[in-house]
Amino acid sequence: MEAIYYSPMLLGVCLLLAVAICSTALWYVSRPYAGPVFWMAGSWTLIAGIVLFFGFIATGSPVLNVLGNAGQLTGEALFLIGIFHFMGRPLPWWTVPASVGVMVAFNVHYWVDDGNSDFLMGVYSTIAGLLPLQAIWLLFKSREDPATRPAQLLVGVSLLIYSGVVLLRGFHGYSDWLQDEPYVLPLNSYSYLLPYNFGIPALVMGFVGVTLMTMQRILAVGRTHQLRAEHLATRDDLTNLLNRRAFRTVAERDLARALRQGHSLCLAMIDLDHFKRLNDNHGHSFGDRALRHVADVWQRQLRETDVLARYGGEEFVLLLPDTSPQEARVLLDRARLAVTGTALHVDKQPVKVTFSAGITEARPGDTIDLLLSRADEALYRAKDAGRDRVEVFAPAS
Ligand code: GH3
Ligand code: MG
Ligand code: MG
Repeated sequence: MEAIYYSPMLLGVCLLLAVAICSTALWYVSRPYAGPVFWMAGSWTLIAGIVLFFGFIATGSPVLNVLGNAGQLTGEALFLIGIFHFMGRPLPWWTVPASVGVMVAFNVHYWVDDGNSDFLMGVYSTIAGLLPLQAIWLLFKSREDPATRPAQLLVGVSLLIYSGVVLLRGFHGYSDWLQDEPYVLPLNSYSYLLPYNFGIPALVMGFVGVTLMTMQRILAVGRTHQLRAEHLATRDDLTNLLNRRAFRTVAERDLARALRQGHSLCLAMIDLDHFKRLNDNHGHSFGDRALRHVADVWQRQLRETDVLARYGGEEFVLLLPDTSPQEARVLLDRARLAVTGTALHVDKQPVKVTFSAGITEARPGDTIDLLLSRADEALYRAKDAGRDRVEVFAPAS
């Protein structure tokens, strides 16, 4: 017991116990994300294996030795399978029976034949050291998820250190075997303790890495959900333009800025002409197509700072910062020609779609509602005057 206390083995097991408890917590908080369930199962199995191996040291029971080695390799393999699970790859389940099978075969041979324990240690370490290489390769190679990439590299480097330490231990085992070194109790053996002193800290690093990977994924998924929700809340389904509510938010900000800075700003109401007739003659789905079409044509005419929104039905609203009424009229007349110039077709027959627009310029003390009602009045005049035209609001009207 005293020997265990003064050996790094005890500290190693305690560190692994901490990892196992934390990996259980990680699994609990990150459900249903892929990966953590294997990291939890792997850590607990690894500890069970080490405890069984301690039993072997204490009692000399060969059964405990076989079970201990098998448990440790299974734990390590499960931890690595978790990395494949996290990355959405096929799970290399074969690593469990393959590594455990080879180890048990050598173990039983050693037991029956009274073989060399240094050689057995070499075999164990070779398997344990080579096991992570597949996962390390995947961690370094995969660039699919930029959010988890830095943490992936941390896990890759940690596992590489772990592999290096364990393989070094194996090398010592073979070399002691070849040189016929006398048997040294694991608790006092320099090479036995290599993985406890240097390998387990690397596993702790690796566990911190997989925790970061998981957290980065949770954050990234949360962000995309938020972006999607924002998009749904501010966009119109049919045309993908801003909806009425989103337009108001942007327009109020732009109006306040224009009035404060004394810059000109125009607002235009746009309404498609005889749209009811268009729907009646060619069907509602043609009407929808026409709405998308005019929205696309307009958008190509606009600057980045212009704000176009679907106000409802076949009515649109356009906010033009730093634009005089004359410039706005030129822009909308150009858009009018662009719409009539790119006709839609029904059964190969061109169908003419036109619109009318009313423009008004912002004045000191204006609100968006005042601008909208003046633009609406100008629009009404454009309709009255025969449609397919643009009118600027004039106080005399
Ligand atoms: P006017 O030239 O006077 O504007 O005549 P109008 O027929 O366009 O009259 P009004 O603007 O009142 O009619 C709007 C019509 O637009 C009514 C509705 O059938 C149609 N409409 C509104 N929203 C949609 C839509 O999302 N898709 C389709 N296909 N039609 C729509
Ligand atoms: Mg209309
Ligand atoms: Mg209308």
